[in-house]
Amino acid sequence: YREWQTKKVRTTCPHCATGCQYDLVVKDNKIVDVIAADGPSNHGKLCVKGRSGSFDFVHSPDRIKYPLIKNKKTGEFERASWDEALDLVASKFMEIKKKYGSDSLAGFACSRSPNEDVYMVQKMVRTCFGTNNTDNCARVCHSASVAGLAMTLGSGAMTNPIYDITHDVDAILLVGSNPEEAHPVVGMQIRQAVQNGTKLIVVDPRDIGLTKYADIHLKIEPGTNIAFANGMMHIMIEENLIDKKFVEERTEGFEELAEIVKDYTPEKVAKICHIEKERLIEAARMYATANKAPIIYCLGVTEHSEGTRGVMSMSNMAMLCGKLGREGCGVNPLRGQNNVQGACDMGAMPTDFPGYQKVKNPDVVKKFEEAWGVELSKEPGIHATDVFPAAIEGKIKGLYIYGEDPVVTDADTTHIIKALKSLDFFVIQELFMTETAQLADVILPGMSYAEKEGTFSNTERRVQRVRKAVDLTQNPEFDIRLDTDIIIDLMNRMGYPQKQMTSAEIMDEIASLTPSFAGISHERLDSEECAKNALQWPCTSKDHPGTPIMHVGKFSRGLGWLYPTEYTPSKELPDEEYPLFLMTGRILYHYTTRAMTGRTPGLMEIEGKSFIEMNEQDADRLGIKDGELVKASSRRGTIQTTARVGTKVSPGETWMPFHFPDGNCNWLTNAALDPFCRIPEYKVCAIKVEKI
Ligand code: SF4
Repeated sequence: YREWQTKKVRTTCPHCATGCQYDLVVKDNKIVDVIAADGPSNHGKLCVKGRSGSFDFVHSPDRIKYPLIKNKKTGEFERASWDEALDLVASKFMEIKKKYGSDSLAGFACSRSPNEDVYMVQKMVRTCFGTNNTDNCARVCHSASVAGLAMTLGSGAMTNPIYDITHDVDAILLVGSNPEEAHPVVGMQIRQAVQNGTKLIVVDPRDIGLTKYADIHLKIEPGTNIAFANGMMHIMIEENLIDKKFVEERTEGFEELAEIVKDYTPEKVAKICHIEKERLIEAARMYATANKAPIIYCLGVTEHSEGTRGVMSMSNMAMLCGKLGREGCGVNPLRGQNNVQGACDMGAMPTDFPGYQKVKNPDVVKKFEEAWGVELSKEPGIHATDVFPAAIEGKIKGLYIYGEDPVVTDADTTHIIKALKSLDFFVIQELFMTETAQLADVILPGMSYAEKEGTFSNTERRVQRVRKAVDLTQNPEFDIRLDTDIIIDLMNRMGYPQKQMTSAEIMDEIASLTPSFAGISHERLDSEECAKNALQWPCTSKDHPGTPIMHVGKFSRGLGWLYPTEYTPSKELPDEEYPLFLMTGRILYHYTTRAMTGRTPGLMEIEGKSFIEMNEQDADRLGIKDGELVKASSRRGTIQTTARVGTKVSPGETWMPFHFPDGNCNWLTNAALDPFCRIPEYKVCAIKVEKI
């Protein structure tokens, strides 16, 4: 590119939580290309989503370009001025609050938007709505990690950096994670590590790309993670492979755990998981005897009705083998969306203020009351997945959603639509007319990551800058505003005197109230010091270097808790009427609802339609051929999709991506919730498939 024709803006990829760094190449206020940068998590690599899917959506003609209010009589959206839209939103929310109380309102923040935006959303919900009913979409992906790791280790985040767990390690235990598709740059680094001699154990009901490089693939039955982990720990204890010194000095609960796993003999576990006991024994020995061996996991562990206990099982294995608090080890959830870690860190959680400071702690509430100058609710709010049933019951009357699309992403679509239609008033701040936005009363147009300043926190707790590359307010077709300005304006219209703030000033307020972010500022992130290696929280003072590895010498909770847990089957299993397991997940070419990647024609040409993977034996029995249209049904709904017949999944099992509106698998999935973190059981439900 000729320098005089273009500018380059260093920023962070807006798709997955790997947090790859790249330069947006801008010509005449339009992004024309993406060039990989040497970031701490990507080292010059990018995947197809980052490379091709990062800018078409910014300039898409489908963008919502001005505020819209639904005409109650016609059901059509009509253009409104900002004053009309914001006055209506503020007055309606305050009317509901007056009539039904603060807890009849709820507001979700966006896990794809910058930390500063999320902070302002939860501040608005807490100060103006007067409730802790705030959440983000971590609720449906990694809330089990936040809860499970916090309970066992004291902090609900990835323990080690990506580079550390993918370079120079002896073995990797990869559980319920398909990084080559969901976190491709991490996947590339794992593949390179294996090619350089690292042993790989894949635990997954499905063949994934990395399976062919694995030393061991335990193709367990869906929903049996806890039995698998208990079996591993049974072997480690029986064969004296555990780190006794670490267990004695740094953990509690060993006796109770040993008592539980005593029953999980290799024979019993092999039967539950449908695997060979010899391979389980081999896996336990390989992991336990390796010096540097991280556990890397993803939604295959968390998205179960026992997801939190599944996460605790990962912690248990690592603690038993002394593989925490040191290089090349740890328990490492690969977080999903670009800023889902940050959305939790920023307090978009019903139980926690920013920095995981508890709503139940009176000193914490007092601190925020003093800083924000209003009385705050002392009661934890309800989780996002409980907001929908509460709306159907009439307990939640008003909902504000900032950049989420639960109609596509949440389990049991029928019940989500019913819930949204039950609301008295529903507002969404969005880039596109999503399936969820269509049900709103007011739509406020949002701005994309390329139009604003801010920060994203990637999966390894690294806070990285997002920088403004283009300004679409110069385009006469657009009447849009900065998202934080919209929220600040709304707060004032609802009676809270929120002063105008830039993104950098918002980060300064976050740092002043959040000990783990105390040393983080835009100024510091923009400095030479952070040019190569942005800060990883906890970063507790202006001269703190950040914390690459957590739990060194001591767990955040003091002693690590070896949490004993029994295997219990998933809430809905195949039966005569619905004889097949359904699992769900992501593919390489799209991100979540494909609201962004779906605007890149090249990606849609490669993968543009829903499909269902079936085993060839089941397909033969049902008379279904590869590529044929089929009908898939569960107790909750029926969809049409296309069969992909092969051996990726075992007989009796099926798998679908959730990105596509035609035949979205979430019409079928089960909203059975985990008792600790309220995550739905996306990964296991029972369906039938029929030839059309
Ligand atoms: Fe990196 Fe993820 Fe973006 Fe791909 S989608 S470029 S792996 S951050």
